[in-house]
Amino acid sequence: MDNGIQGKVVAITGASSGIGEATALLLAAQGAKVVVGARREDRLAGLERQIKSLGGDAAYAVTDVKQRGDLENLVALARARYGRLDVMVNNAGITQLSPIDELDVAGWEAMIDVNLKGVLYGIAAALPVFRQQGSGHIINIISTSGLKIVPLQGVYAATKNAVRTLSEALRQESNGRWRVTGISPGFVQSELVDHIKDNQIRTAISETRDTLAIPADAIARAIAYAIEQPAQVDVGDIVIRPTVQD
Ligand code: NDP
Repeated sequence: MDNGIQGKVVAITGASSGIGEATALLLAAQGAKVVVGARREDRLAGLERQIKSLGGDAAYAVTDVKQRGDLENLVALARARYGRLDVMVNNAGITQLSPIDELDVAGWEAMIDVNLKGVLYGIAAALPVFRQQGSGHIINIISTSGLKIVPLQGVYAATKNAVRTLSEALRQESNGRWRVTGISPGFVQSELVDHIKDNQIRTAISETRDTLAIPADAIARAIAYAIEQPAQVDVGDIVIRPTVQD
């Protein structure tokens, strides 16, 4: 029976850990052909091996979402290997938390480049294919950081809310040509906060993660839900938090 996922070609950025990796594993197990990208090649190669050893179908390309050409390359791989692209999951993201008056300008720029421009580059790579096919699905991974605004997360939340805004415009511009889904996770077990530069903030937020975060698989299931809907059904926004998150 068609599960709505079987045979679909799904590109996923930031698939070398956390939500992206969990999504690749879940979708491949349900019969999708997954094309995964991130910067760490060893992780991608391991993921491809794991999916194939479980009987799934996967390909990878080293991808830095700060480079528009890398996104074009990821989509070109999907087309060369599988002949089409059904879903683009713009998941790659980073966070650098600090008070705005610390002026971590390098951190701001990095978040804008990866979380906002990286998503736009993913959209720019996918839309020409969707236009040609007459169908496609953009799934952007946003955050509850943009829904409940709190100190230290100002710029991170700003990049996420920028993605929320452009996702809605892209949905309205679709005229049935593609679907657009925004998924806003709350606290999820992943490597995201391990890369925070400020030691004190990293330690504090890692402790919070370790006590309340939900598994990345919970977000992967939401992505699968959006994909598996019939073509005329567009799941707009999904918010998924730990039950204990305020
Ligand atoms: P991880 O740090 O585990 O995963 C982030 C992924 O993004 C990694 O695969 C990383 O791979 C990739 N990445 C980072 N920079 C780049 C880049 N320049 N080019 C390509 N890939 C890149 O964290 P999560 O799984 O949690 O993060 C996934 C998404 O979920 C992010 O957008 C994040 O903002 C969002 N999110 C996470 C939440 C959480 O609590 N964990 C909550 C809300 C949203 P590599 O280093 O190999 O490039």
